[in-house]
Amino acid sequence: MPVLKLHLGDVVRTRKTHPCGSDQWEIVRLGADIGIRCLRCGRRVLIARPKLERRIKEFVRRGPGAGGAPEPAPVPLPPKV
Ligand SMILES: [Zn+2]
Repeated sequence: MPVLKLHLGDVVRTRKTHPCGSDQWEIVRLGADIGIRCLRCGRRVLIARPKLERRIKEFVRRGPGAGGAPEPAPVPLPPKV
């Protein structure tokens, strides 16, 4: 499985929703653990990268760090085998 390219400012949709009801998160910190911020309530969470990758359903928006032209629409992830 290819490694997901995560960038600061990316917004992702996860399979599990936050208790506040939102399923969209912005990437705010990169490292061994990824920092994500809930778009609705603003809560920040640190999560191990492999764990986050399993939870991500799709990219909603690509941050400026992704490079190239911004994606016009959500990009579906390749199917997981
Ligand atoms: Zn929330």
